[in-house]
Amino acid sequence: MLSRKSNHRSRNNTVSVIGVALGDEGKGRLVDNKIESLLKKPGIKSVCVIRFQGGNNTGHTVEKDSIKLALHLVPSCVMYQKAFGIMDRGMVIHPYDLKTEVLYVEKKVISLKNRLFLSDDAILCTDLERAEEVLNRVKTGRAKGGTGRGISPSYAHHYDRLGLKIYDLIDKNWKEILSKQYDQYQKMFSAFDIDLAKTEVPDYEKTLKSGKETSQTVGIKKEFIKKLEKARSFIIKRKMITNTYLMHKDLYKDSSKAIIFEGAQALGLDPWLGTRPDTTSSNTSVYGVREGTAYWLPYQIKQNIGIFKIVYSSSVGARRMPTHVDLPKNLADLPKNSSSEQKWAAFVREEGHEYGTTTGRPRDITHLDLAFIAYNARMSGVDVLAGTHLDIAKEDHVIKVCTHYTNKKGEYVAYQPGLRYQEDVIPNYVELPGWDGLRCRKARKKSQLPKNALKFLSFVQLRTGFPIVAVTTGPKRENFIALDGYNQ
Ligand code: GDP
Ligand code: MG
Repeated sequence: MLSRKSNHRSRNNTVSVIGVALGDEGKGRLVDNKIESLLKKPGIKSVCVIRFQGGNNTGHTVEKDSIKLALHLVPSCVMYQKAFGIMDRGMVIHPYDLKTEVLYVEKKVISLKNRLFLSDDAILCTDLERAEEVLNRVKTGRAKGGTGRGISPSYAHHYDRLGLKIYDLIDKNWKEILSKQYDQYQKMFSAFDIDLAKTEVPDYEKTLKSGKETSQTVGIKKEFIKKLEKARSFIIKRKMITNTYLMHKDLYKDSSKAIIFEGAQALGLDPWLGTRPDTTSSNTSVYGVREGTAYWLPYQIKQNIGIFKIVYSSSVGARRMPTHVDLPKNLADLPKNSSSEQKWAAFVREEGHEYGTTTGRPRDITHLDLAFIAYNARMSGVDVLAGTHLDIAKEDHVIKVCTHYTNKKGEYVAYQPGLRYQEDVIPNYVELPGWDGLRCRKARKKSQLPKNALKFLSFVQLRTGFPIVAVTTGPKRENFIALDGYNQ
């Protein structure tokens, strides 16, 4: 008898990597490691890495030998000649920044020619959407939110149908289409007495060169179009743009190719399941793969890995999670009589280099919150976990871990996304013994890890209900330990 259920089978050698904390968990390096392990499997000739959401409001680090790269739009496939990347239709693409990033990667590593594909249906982002973020700030009087890279207006205009797609950029009438868009923005800006041409937006090209955040003006219409034209010709010449649906159809059938779905932001930033106001605009879970590729369904993915920093969490933005530790922006301002918690958080910030990649902004440090991680892991659709930063520990310092919340009456309170639910909760902690983080960095297999680190892993597995299939013990490639269930 015909049954839909019998078709619910996963495709072999498919993996998703999803952040289950608040970002910068190490997704890029896990993808990089997965490529390596998949390429070792018999019959696998190449690996396709698919970005299905977000734009260059993200930064994924990949390292090899002495090369360290921060990727924003390009999938983390660059270190392997046998890997290729798809920037799929769920993404927001700023063409000029894409050109800059491709050239940056090629200068530092190897050519991306014939290894990088872009969906013709991806959402187009230009300096207009970036300027709109400035306008929104003026309109609302609210402090700067978001990354200023135009991602939220671009997604908003996907929903209100006012935005453009990559296919508009490659249309033969593209100049007309984009001129019209510029005129509409100019009208909107005039209504608020703001000069669109003089509005400052981020300049990624100059930021990369100078190493500090630099801006530029949108420019008059002619300048705006001229800049886009450069990026457009680059992308067209590279033959990147394609109907990715057809690629997926072939990929599905071709068992010599492995596939990795690379999450951009983390579940704690998901527009529905994260904590406002510091949320992003696209579906960050495994479920985002459906709309982000318009082909794959979550159940077709063999292994869904949720990644998080295992001994603490860090974040940027206005949110204050219940397990937040107060630290001054500048650690030199930490008072002598600071609490042992603050001293520990200061150690974490320094040792874990918890400073924004482009901005250098110090990140907030929180204790590991298992109520939060377990919720995120469940809602993101992952099956297993990978823990990073196991090396950020000290032998003489206990690690505080939040197991659950209670209210003032001592009653259990479940974690729910949204600060108003978290305002009055009291995190309940257990204290677990620390270990020698430097010894962790030297470990190459599970048996070489300090005993307390292993006990800690067991505790986290037990409390979250998810198996931990890999840990990382430092930023380098060799600081990676696969555990049971990693190599399927
Ligand atoms: P992503 O956005 O999730 O891909 O993560 P990022 O690459 O933005 O941030 C992770 C940062 O942590 C990078 O600077 C990595 O080099 C670093 N990192 C990753 N894993 C480890 C680890 O196990 N230990 C330490 N100390 N650093 C790590
Ligand atoms: Mg990052």
